[in-house]
Amino acid sequence: MALSRRLRVLAYHGIEDPASFAAHLDLLVADWHPVSATEVVADFAGEVALPPNAVWITFDDGHRSVVETALPLLSTRDLPATMFVCPALVEQRLPFWWDVVEAASEQPLRTFKAMADADRRTRVAGLWEHLDRPTRTELSGRVATEAELQRWQDAGLSLGNHTLDHPMLDRCDAAEQERQIVEADAWLDAFVGDDRLRLFAYPNGHATPAANELLGTLGYSLAALFDHRANRRPVERVASLQRPPIISRLRMSDTAAPSYLRSVLHGWRPWLSRASEARHRTVRRLVGAR
Ligand SMILES: [Zn+2]
Repeated sequence: MALSRRLRVLAYHGIEDPASFAAHLDLLVADWHPVSATEVVADFAGEVALPPNAVWITFDDGHRSVVETALPLLSTRDLPATMFVCPALVEQRLPFWWDVVEAASEQPLRTFKAMADADRRTRVAGLWEHLDRPTRTELSGRVATEAELQRWQDAGLSLGNHTLDHPMLDRCDAAEQERQIVEADAWLDAFVGDDRLRLFAYPNGHATPAANELLGTLGYSLAALFDHRANRRPVERVASLQRPPIISRLRMSDTAAPSYLRSVLHGWRPWLSRASEARHRTVRRLVGAR
């Protein structure tokens, strides 16, 4: 299949360097075809075909910097984008838990990611207690407020579900997985409207069969991974045998050189093949294939 027929989905987090991110957007405008979530969903549904060199721009976690820095740069170029948010952090002004770990623990993040969900929560709460007030204020301030997310929405950009407060779903029991997805879904219904496009991104890309089945029941149009590969279309509708379709994304940092962005979009990375294998294992697990 021609490379131009693949859908690339870029997954950014916070945006710290406006000039560098502007260079990314200029590259996308010049050489690629940025598309909206609506177009991606319509393509997966077989209703329309995406243009060649389609790229969907996404942001995970709901960083304030995305509204402050990325939104004006997207708007001046009239570019669509989607932000996947965690409503509990927004409503309760909570920090990203990994920021707490990095500020207060010597242990690597991966140690916390491997913990059972309840254990991780207890450990992170303990670390949070020991942070001084200025650090707590700084960390909580990294998350976008409701007013900021409203600005994002008012600009015509979409919001998606990234769970209630960003656990690793594969470390949660079934009841907690359900709570994380259903409560975030209800918040988005209230904030955006219940006729919204239902979009989901797995925190850390950790998909589980139970979560994917629930997303299908709730009417989600797609569930995004974090596996660093492009989507072949329509051959990869193999993934869409599962409801919702599982979609691959390419990790990207706003501070990366445009040459790096170009190489990732073109798939010029030898380790992509290893990521590809991992992704296929995930898809096979989710569709129940061996
Ligand atoms: Zn995330």
